[in-house]
Amino acid sequence: MKILIVGGGGREHAIAAAVARSPKADKIYCAPGNAGIAEVAECVPLGVDEFDKIASFAKKKEVDLVIVGPDDPLAAGIVDVLEAAGLRVFGPRKNAAILEGSKAFSKDLMKKYNIPTAAYETFDDAQKAVEYLETASFPIVLKADGLALGKGVLICNTKEEALEGVKSIMTDKQFGSAGNRMVVEEYMTGREVSVLSFVDGKHIKIMTSAQDHKRACDGDKGLNTGGMGTFSPSPFYTKEVDDFCKQYIYQPTVDAMAEEGREFKGIIFFGLMLTEKGPRVLEYNARFGDPEAQVVLPRMKNDIIDVVEACIDGTLDQIELQFEDNAAVCVVLASQGYPVKYEKGLKISGLEKFKDADGYFCYHAGTRFDNEGNIVTNGGRVLGITATGKDLKAARANAYEAAGWVDFANKYMRTDIGKAIDEA
Ligand code: AMP
Repeated sequence: MKILIVGGGGREHAIAAAVARSPKADKIYCAPGNAGIAEVAECVPLGVDEFDKIASFAKKKEVDLVIVGPDDPLAAGIVDVLEAAGLRVFGPRKNAAILEGSKAFSKDLMKKYNIPTAAYETFDDAQKAVEYLETASFPIVLKADGLALGKGVLICNTKEEALEGVKSIMTDKQFGSAGNRMVVEEYMTGREVSVLSFVDGKHIKIMTSAQDHKRACDGDKGLNTGGMGTFSPSPFYTKEVDDFCKQYIYQPTVDAMAEEGREFKGIIFFGLMLTEKGPRVLEYNARFGDPEAQVVLPRMKNDIIDVVEACIDGTLDQIELQFEDNAAVCVVLASQGYPVKYEKGLKISGLEKFKDADGYFCYHAGTRFDNEGNIVTNGGRVLGITATGKDLKAARANAYEAAGWVDFANKYMRTDIGKAIDEA
């Protein structure tokens, strides 16, 4: 088969590596890819938003399967455009990708179908939001409705902070048009768990659990980022939690989307908070998490192409997902200054150490080749260093060891990825 992967981050590298393990994959393309993906795929210089060019390329190369990684093109309808061109595509159509693309939509869906989540109100008008906050209790959570690179959520401890938040989201448009509408949500406390799933429109198969670290600095301090590291499985995702989510969250979400005429095929990522009252949905994503994909996919035993095709064909019920009985930890190596301001174009050394290191993976996020063929930094998040181990502690020790193999100027990482493991 010829397979085209759309995207160019660590998530897409993890997808490309999983596809490359399949005996079915004869040729892999990636648009636009990056310097690491280039080891397993032919990178094509097309932006993820150039739907027509991607369609023409895939038709010309007689691509058999397209896998779309990132949220923005999914929300903007890339699957619809590629399908209209006669291509076979893995990912939700535009009318289903709204599950992630609009927080107001997903909250209304959960309310209508009794899927447990935080209480909320939606506002199209800044003045109405301000009036509401006069009598609200704090802390409270403000969320820009649309996609904002995972950064459109503000946790406000006081009324003053919340009023400032309304101004930045709705008036100053800090997150652009994502802030035309805003959700104000009850503040919840508890541990967070990420659960990824494959969905074929009717059936849902849950992958192993993971936990993300969204803040830039140790101790969950600093700004929200795309994710600074992750581990899998989460020791807090117990059988009891799994049973509850299966009954009240997972299948009900798939059924709700079908009922609304928005059949969902692709990946649903459930961001859950394990509250005292039980699991609650924090958010849905309509694609693999990044970096979650980097700890979940290396542990998956199935041929990813079989699973993806079953999602497209509606035969996922015939697949049994299997994961290695081990653990994985991913430490993100970023450029100092991320997520605000950072240098690019810095030479990276030590990458060759991963070539024959079994159980160690170096997923490239922001990397490229310079004119002399050196691999240099090309983004805030540069590399995702993943290692497996017999348990979470072993995996964490291995991941931090491997994080030391690589070097570049201004290399920055959190030193406490997976610290929560010690509390389990
Ligand atoms: P989201 O993008 O909606 O997952 O939000 C990003 C992060 O904000 C989450 O991972 C949580 O840490 C936090 N968050 C979101 N909603 C709430 C909430 N209702 N209560 C407490 N924290 C929240």
